[in-house]
Amino acid sequence: MPDRDWPKYYQEHKEARLETQRKWRGNHPDLKKAQNDEYKKEHRKELLAYYRLRAREKKRVVMIHYGGKCVCCGEARIEFLSVDHVNGGGEKQKRELGIGSDMYSWLIRNNFPEEGYRVLCFNCNMARGFYGYCPHDISLHDAKGTLS
Ligand SMILES: [Zn+2]
Ligand SMILES: [Zn+2]
Repeated sequence: MPDRDWPKYYQEHKEARLETQRKWRGNHPDLKKAQNDEYKKEHRKELLAYYRLRAREKKRVVMIHYGGKCVCCGEARIEFLSVDHVNGGGEKQKRELGIGSDMYSWLIRNNFPEEGYRVLCFNCNMARGFYGYCPHDISLHDAKGTLS
C-alpha cells in the first residue's frame, strides 16, 4: 500500500474501531471502569519507567559522592558499582531498607554519612562476601611479595 493511502486507511480503521466501541459500550455499562483500569495499566508503565530513571539518577548521585569508583579495583562503570557497608552492616541495613534504590534514598536523606560506606564493584563485593577477601588484594600482595 502506497504511503499516501495510509491516512485514509487509518481514518477508516479508526471509524470502524469507534463504531465497534460504541456498540460494545451499549452492551457493557461497566466500560468506564474497564477504561480506567486500562488507563491505570498504561499509566503504571509510565510510572515504572519514571521510577527506574529516578532510581538510576539516585544511584549516580550517591556513587559520585562516594568516589565514583570501586575502592578495590578502580572499576568506574556505574552499572558494576554498589555501595558497601564497611563493617558488614550491609545485610542488616538491606533487611531494614530493602535493596537498591531504597538504600540510595536512605543515604541521600541522611546527607551521605561518611562513616562506614564505600564503593565496591559487584565482583569485589561478591568475592569479599563469599571468600572474605578479594583476589585483587592477593595479587597485589603477591606482586609485592608481602603476602606471607
Ligand atoms: Zn572492584
Ligand atoms: Zn577487588
